[in-house]
Amino acid sequence: MISSSEMTETTTAQAPETVTAVATETEMSRERDGEEEEKIRRQKKLEEALEAKSLRRIISAYLNYPEAAEEDLKKWERSYRKLSPAHKALVPHYALKFQRLRRCISTNSYFIFNMLQAFEPPIDLSQDLDGYEDSNLDCAPHEKYVLDERHDSSCQPALTNNSTHEEESKSLHDSELQKKDTNGPSPNNYSEDARNNDDRYDCDGGHLNHDHANASLSSHDWLDPSLQTHVPLVDVDKVRCIIRNIVRDWAAEGQRERDQCYKPILEELDSLFPDRQKQSTPPSCLVPGAGLGRLALEISCLGFISQGNEFSYYMMICSSFILNYAQVPNEWTIYPWIHSNCNSLSDNDQLRPVSIPDIHPASAGITEGFSMCGGDFVEVYNESCQAGMWDAVVTCFFIDTAHNIIEYIETISKILKDGGVWINLGPLLYHFADTYGHDNEMSIELSLEDVKRVASQYGFEIEKERTIETTYTTNPRSMMQNRYYTAFWTMRKKCAITT
Ligand code: SAH
Repeated sequence: MISSSEMTETTTAQAPETVTAVATETEMSRERDGEEEEKIRRQKKLEEALEAKSLRRIISAYLNYPEAAEEDLKKWERSYRKLSPAHKALVPHYALKFQRLRRCISTNSYFIFNMLQAFEPPIDLSQDLDGYEDSNLDCAPHEKYVLDERHDSSCQPALTNNSTHEEESKSLHDSELQKKDTNGPSPNNYSEDARNNDDRYDCDGGHLNHDHANASLSSHDWLDPSLQTHVPLVDVDKVRCIIRNIVRDWAAEGQRERDQCYKPILEELDSLFPDRQKQSTPPSCLVPGAGLGRLALEISCLGFISQGNEFSYYMMICSSFILNYAQVPNEWTIYPWIHSNCNSLSDNDQLRPVSIPDIHPASAGITEGFSMCGGDFVEVYNESCQAGMWDAVVTCFFIDTAHNIIEYIETISKILKDGGVWINLGPLLYHFADTYGHDNEMSIELSLEDVKRVASQYGFEIEKERTIETTYTTNPRSMMQNRYYTAFWTMRKKCAITT
């Protein structure tokens, strides 16, 4: 047997050098691999830490809701106090209105707190950014994670008692499913209280009643108010948006809006898949940007294997609570309209309670395989295992959330089967247009005409098209009703794309 050095020596004069060079190269490449691995590991850790930070901020925003609402209320009270006695006498009920508002805030806070208690964070919230605060952070492209609440994909059955789909969801995205901890804190512990949102839950000054909070801090340390970070008011505003979204998706009051937005989509799906009950496997339908999950649930009830995809933890925390923890219709009461005094016909309108959910999701008649998948649509569904997987993709008020709408269209085309359909309803109110102070924020703002042109390049043919007039999370009793003239279409993917 010839040793490698002997062999090289007899080959060429330069051989030893070459071997040394190869050896050095191998060492170097090993070193490089090691460095690369370390870099990837650190990058992953950084991403996780950023995600944890983002999620902590969102939880803080939820927890800051009562305080922020109380601040507004105090501002209104200060204005009122500036009135002359004569003017005060003209609106004598005002002081009482403030007391009523305080009780409404308290009730909303109680709902929020129960929702948070039910939440099982999919990541370790204790990790922090120590050690990353130097150069790493400055150049990290992941700051968007923090700003946009983007997070890694994690799929779970939309209704956790629908365990049959667990395996499928798992294989789909190979990420940890959130499981309900039966011993963990559950709103059931307080269900009696929460369903009767009266005096008992008055939190002084709009603060959460920490007696309740302390009951289950052991496994939910992140709910400890002392660990909360201060959040900008804009974050708390998002919580108010969520409350309005709850009405859209889960209250009888939202029915009119759901009829405007969801019904045309459901009717279209119904007519496009008439034989779905006879098929051995129901057709599959993906709802990117699923919000609070009602549309995805309705699609499931229509007889589809339905999956909602959503990247906002604000939304996911809330949809998961309603889908998994609601026990009876109208279990909770919230006061969604209290945060604005504008355009009210009467105080009673502004302070009216809204019962949620209007239906009990678990008894709604879902089709096996209903799931919610967390994560950025483009990131999650560009995985090769997703190609040609879906019979239908439904986008409702979604496509204008893109930095690059072309990427959305490309992804939709990629994941649809040949002959699959894309149903869309929504405006083109591009979310990243006019993001002042973020000049480098990409935002491709195509006209409807161009959107259709791009879609045709990705193999889509328009089968139906019309305009639908609708509101979005609008208070039906407000004197202001913003309307959208949304584009509603059905496009069919005719063939595999060639671009
Ligand atoms: N379809 C719902 C929600 C529309 S709002 C409805 O009609 O009520 C748009 C939703 O898309 C928001 O919930 C937002 O968080 C989500 N979203 C925005 N960008 C996303 C992305 N890249 N991936 C997944 N979801 C996204």
